[in-house]
Amino acid sequence: MSHPFIIVGASQAGVQVAESLRGEGYDGPLMLIGEEAHPPYQRPPLSKALLTGETTEDRLILRGPELLARKNIELVTGARAVAVDRQDRSVRLSDGRALPYRGLALTTGARARVLAIPGADLDGVVTLRTIEDSRRIAAGIANASAVAVVGGGFIGLEIAAAARKAGKPVIVFEALDRLLARSSAPFVSKFFLDLHGSHGVDVKLATQVTALAGNGRRVSGVVTGDGRTHAADLVVVGVGIVANSELAQDCGLACERGIIVDDCSRTEDPSIVAAGDCTARRMADGTLLRLESVQNAIEQGKSAAAALLGRARPFAAAPWFWSDQYDVRLQMAGLSAGHDRIVVRGATDERRFSVFYFRGERLLAVDSINRAPDHIAARKLLDAGKSLTPEQAADEGFALAGLLK
Ligand SMILES: Cc1cc2nc3c(=O)[nH]c(=O)nc-3n(C[C@H](O)[C@H](O)[C@H](O)COP(=O)(O)OP(=O)(O)OC[C@H]3O[C@@H](n4cnc5c(N)ncnc54)[C@H](O)[C@@H]3O)c2cc1C
Repeated sequence: MSHPFIIVGASQAGVQVAESLRGEGYDGPLMLIGEEAHPPYQRPPLSKALLTGETTEDRLILRGPELLARKNIELVTGARAVAVDRQDRSVRLSDGRALPYRGLALTTGARARVLAIPGADLDGVVTLRTIEDSRRIAAGIANASAVAVVGGGFIGLEIAAAARKAGKPVIVFEALDRLLARSSAPFVSKFFLDLHGSHGVDVKLATQVTALAGNGRRVSGVVTGDGRTHAADLVVVGVGIVANSELAQDCGLACERGIIVDDCSRTEDPSIVAAGDCTARRMADGTLLRLESVQNAIEQGKSAAAALLGRARPFAAAPWFWSDQYDVRLQMAGLSAGHDRIVVRGATDERRFSVFYFRGERLLAVDSINRAPDHIAARKLLDAGKSLTPEQAADEGFALAGLLK
């Protein structure tokens, strides 16, 4: 019998590789290996509906073991891959087993970045990546008298919204001078600052967190660069992620902020592909693009499966992402980096508008606030390589869908 395709990392990207291999017609042995105890599950609700109690853990499961078994995908949970031998073409697990592979997909994702400051290891200082983390934060919020969030990115702001929903006082500390600075224009940053302000969150911009104060082993406050201590008995750190690229690095594959892949999810080893949060994609202009999203995991997963079978199926779709905070859903399409102009369409005072990002006359990206139809149209426009003029974007009477005919 031939060796299996082995997929290391049983989450969004790993499941996609497995199912796409079946979709591409491969019917041989296939192993999906994950270190977590759970079957593959969705992470976005961990900072949203699961934290607010609007959903339950069982509804997060992406694919249960029975469903995978029906597709003849062997799911191994609670198993960590510790080394890849490229010469031998085998993966070693922490229990000592060496599994030979025909082809290997690395879908090891990422872990939360931790703070390197005094007090970062105190009880009550937490990050969010797994179901267990989300449980810990939900319990922490329920018991907290004051919640501090370090980092004004999506995860931090979603947790702040959940803590406010539970009625707890919340302070958000952001080192930069605006929220969501990595992904959005100042206009959108200001909208979210006002949104959180209107819900009673105390947002401290341009504020460096220098230490966490403790009362014995328990966190009691956040110390900022100006020497002040802000009381908090739950501190949630949301300062980005670190790609789990060590397996690749240790077996000699090129890594830089992630496992380097091309637009078909191929590494430099023809029998190894990688997909999802663990990767950095080499673009046509030589730059590296890191995306941390469900869509990226799915699209790269499809490319990776095709590549394992020797087929080139590049990931060409425009990136998209979403975030839920209070009654606001932000949906983003495209990449706004390099824009020189924004156009706002819709009613900002009703919290229902879209921000169109242009470089010259070319549309780069659209951020939609409670305007799903704009988001759908934007994705289709960007995927089709079509643009509209800034004047058309600003004109509410101009139908975006008309451009797609
Ligand atoms: C709180 C939160 C909210 C999010 N919200 C959104 C959102 O609103 N929209 C959006 O698009 N994206 C969101 N994301 C991002 C999205 O969830 C990720 O982009 C996606 O999960 C990436 O999937 P992945 O399979 O690449 O990696 P992961 O989901 O990180 O999975 C990797 C898996 O590999 C396992 N693993 C790692 N190393 C090994 C090893 N050596 N052996 C065995 N197993 C291993 C890990 O334990 C993990 O289970 C959110 C993420 C988080 C944490």
